[in-house]
Amino acid sequence: MNIFELKDLKTKDFGRAFVHLETVESTFLTMREFEKQGAVHGCVVLADEQTLGRGRFSRRWESGKGLGLYFNLLLRPDLSPTLAPRLILFAAVGVAQGLRDLGFEAKIKWPNDIVISGKKVCGMLMESGGDMEHLRYVSAGIGINVNQTLSDFPDELQEKAASLFILSGREQSRETVLTAVLNRLEENYYLCINNYEELSENYTRLSATVGHEVVASGGSEVSGFAEGINEDGELLVRDKKGVLHALNIGDVSVRGVMGYV
Ligand code: ATP
Repeated sequence: MNIFELKDLKTKDFGRAFVHLETVESTFLTMREFEKQGAVHGCVVLADEQTLGRGRFSRRWESGKGLGLYFNLLLRPDLSPTLAPRLILFAAVGVAQGLRDLGFEAKIKWPNDIVISGKKVCGMLMESGGDMEHLRYVSAGIGINVNQTLSDFPDELQEKAASLFILSGREQSRETVLTAVLNRLEENYYLCINNYEELSENYTRLSATVGHEVVASGGSEVSGFAEGINEDGELLVRDKKGVLHALNIGDVSVRGVMGYV
C-alpha cells in the first residue's frame, strides 16, 4: 500500500476517514462491508485497481491499475428515502466543479457523466440501503480517468473516453485531483440537503445535455429537446409533437444528436 496524502483537504467529514487499497473487485463491495461495520459519514475507500468495476446497467468500468481514481464515498444522510434521487446531482456537480478548480472545462452529461471536450472522463453510480422510512446509507462510486493514455482504453472506448492526462498533455497527481473533488463534493452535499434549488441551478449551468437536442434509448425511446431537469433529477425532454417526457436515471441512456454528448 502506498502513501496517499490529501494534504489540502478542507472538508469536515469527506475523506477524513480514508482507506487506500491496492486491488479490490469493486469499491462498492468493499464499502458495503465497511458500512456494515459502522463506517462513518464521509468515509472514502480508494482503490488503485478494480477487477470488477461496474457502471450503470452492470456495464464494465475500465479501472486500469494506478491510472485513475476509483473511489467510493459513504454518506449517512438525514434525508427521507423519497428524496434520495436528489443526491445524484450533488455528486455530478461536485466532481465537475473540482475538475474546474484544476482548470478543466468539465461539464455534466445527464445524469452524471463528467465530460471534457466532449469526452467521458468520469462516471459515477449510487446505491443505498435502509427501509421505506429511513435511509441508512448511500454509497457513491466514482471513477475518474486521470493518467491513462489512449491505448490504455479498449478500442471501443477510444472515441468516447479521455483522461485528464490526454486532455492536458500533463501527468496529473491523483492526490491533487481527489482532494479538489472531495472539497467540492462536500460543499455540494450540504447544498443538496439545505438548498436543493441552488444545487439544481448549478447542475443546469454545468449541464452539457440541457439546452440540446438528444436521443434517449433503453426504457423509453424518445428524441427531442432537453429543456431541463425536475426536482427528482429527471431529464425533461420535449418531443417533436410537443409532448414533455420525464426520463428517469434508471431507465435510459442519452446521446446528443451529433454524437456522445
Ligand atoms: P453512457 O451514456 O456513457 O453509456 P452511462 O451513464 O449509461 O453512460 P456508466 O454507467 O457511467 O454509463 O458507465 C458505463 C459505460 O462507460 C460503459 O458501458 C463504457 O461505455 C464506458 N466506460 C467504461 N469504462 C470507462 C472509462 N474508464 N472511461 C470512460 N468511459 C468508460
